[in-house]
Amino acid sequence: MSKRQPTLLIVVPLGWAPLWTGPLASAPVRLNVAVHGRDDYRPQDVDYVLSFRPPPGLLKTFSNLKAVFSLGAGVDGFLADPEYPRHVPLVRFVHPQLSIEMAQYVVMHTLIFHRHQDVFDSAQKEHKWRQMMLPRPTDRTRIGILGFGEIGQLAGARLRDLGFPVAGWSRSRKQVDGIESFAGQEEFDAFLARTDILICLLPLTPQTRGILNARTFARLPEGAMVMNVARGGHLNETDLIAALDSGHLAGAVLDVFQSEPLPEDSPLWAHPRVRVTPHIAAISDPAVTVDMVLSGIGRAERGEPLDNVVDVSRGY
Ligand code: NAP
Repeated sequence: MSKRQPTLLIVVPLGWAPLWTGPLASAPVRLNVAVHGRDDYRPQDVDYVLSFRPPPGLLKTFSNLKAVFSLGAGVDGFLADPEYPRHVPLVRFVHPQLSIEMAQYVVMHTLIFHRHQDVFDSAQKEHKWRQMMLPRPTDRTRIGILGFGEIGQLAGARLRDLGFPVAGWSRSRKQVDGIESFAGQEEFDAFLARTDILICLLPLTPQTRGILNARTFARLPEGAMVMNVARGGHLNETDLIAALDSGHLAGAVLDVFQSEPLPEDSPLWAHPRVRVTPHIAAISDPAVTVDMVLSGIGRAERGEPLDNVVDVSRGY
């Protein structure tokens, strides 16, 4: 008797589903593909799920679920569900292209801030030839990367190569050429005290939620900049605005927000020292995602271990 063809359920906003159903339709594999909210399916037939932020309680209804694939590097959208089936392997998206694009975003916004590009942008609008020296030289502009993993280490290396003194903060100590490593809560304040540009690349977990807050900002040197490219839940937006308005922080770059899309009436949109981008620092390429999911399903069907499985107890 031939083996039952496995079923992959895609759980995304309906308009987005063709991004993945398109490449899946032309893939030479035996796989049933269903889209949650569009297609009929029986919960007990779902073997695999591809999603980013599934509705809470949905995944626990799939009694034969073998693995869950995240569309993103972060898996907080799954673990926010108190009923997430924690025994099912949760695979996060890890790919060099994603890390490269994240590092590009970080480098670009670091340089825009460091080189005072906004001054030249407004001078051009006024047809003004406004020359100035860099107020702070590169070798005295200290970068601090919160979350020194896949993406943090690549971004850190790129900034180090541009001549910035770079440090990374993580749970465990790291050995990366030319980059200072700070580890654990006990070294957090020392890390902040030596950081002029703070870049958040942490996973969102109960330990890191709200880490960008008034206490953290107060420990940064006056005139520091904060960049959040991780998750909106890391940042206390009210504390950020207060620190900017007091003059303690000189700027902020935000790609992620407590509420997305960022509400039209958010004060962040028009704040003169805030740059807003709509969660686009890096977006997983659908064709690459489909390749990774198919390779993962192949491994699971052959009984082989999966790559990039999240430690659910740790939250990342
Ligand atoms: P990763 O490889 O898992 O790295 C996470 C890093 O954070 C590790 O160095 C880890 O320390 C550290 N960490 C975790 N909890 C900590 C804690 N309580 N205290 C100190 N350090 C802690 O993750 P990644 O692939 O670099 O991705 C990082 C995050 O970027 C994702 O979770 C996602 O939220 C975000 N992201 C955003 C976008 C976007 O478009 N804006 C795109 C992709 C990713 P250890 O090394 O010691 O374990």
